[in-house]
Amino acid sequence: MMPRSGRARLRPLIAGNWKMNGLVKARSELRRLASYLVDFPSAACDVVICPPATLLHSFRAEITGTRLSLGAQDCHADEGGAHTGDISAAMVKDAGAKWVILGHSERRVDHGETDRVVRDKAAAAASQGLGLIVCLGESKQERDGNKTLRVIGRQLAASIPQGIQPKRLVIAYEPIWAIGSGRTPTLDQIAQVHGFLRNKLIAAMGDDGARVRLLYGGSVKPSNAAEILAVPHVNGALVGGASLKAGDFWQIIKACG
Ligand code: PEP
Repeated sequence: MMPRSGRARLRPLIAGNWKMNGLVKARSELRRLASYLVDFPSAACDVVICPPATLLHSFRAEITGTRLSLGAQDCHADEGGAHTGDISAAMVKDAGAKWVILGHSERRVDHGETDRVVRDKAAAAASQGLGLIVCLGESKQERDGNKTLRVIGRQLAASIPQGIQPKRLVIAYEPIWAIGSGRTPTLDQIAQVHGFLRNKLIAAMGDDGARVRLLYGGSVKPSNAAEILAVPHVNGALVGGASLKAGDFWQIIKACG
């Protein structure tokens, strides 16, 4: 059923990016989260945990029969070969992930990943049937220089391969200066970027562009989740620090209910 705004409601997606945090003993946190979710209506939101790749396999056993899905934080664009330390999309899938985060600013900055690299990785992940969570976002200097929409538009156009099914594509708007800083854009600024992304997606993909979920990420926490999730065209959140503790993450998830 269409809400009164005329827009179909997209089921929100709340994804936790654990970054380089977590040992096998963090399974207890996962179990706690799964227990909170037992009576939470499945229509309220999808929940994805993206632990370090070392934990995917052991977490797979923990999430069986729960509301949780797993995601990886990166994959290589190639199917295999001489890439010491990297993991392929097929490996990520084999370890139990259904999703993969690509183009996170920490990879773009720390590992020099360009839009082209992100697009190639996204194509490799899509060819394995993985869902993509592709991150975009401006630096503080770009925001202050009034370049936000130009940067986001360029990243969107260049980071996403053609022909991805809308249900398998998620775009996360993550201003770099908001990540891990405790600072967030104003709700109007988030609305402006998300509205811009929605229009660009519809222009590029037609009706399918209205079905791509748009997440906001950057210092989302229990105290601001509800107001951020209520912004038009915000269809969920990508959460870093506050996803590490099941109790905090659960408060954010509940804001979808
Ligand atoms: C992130 O790293 O994707 C992120 C949003 O981090 P934080 O929530 O800690 O700002």
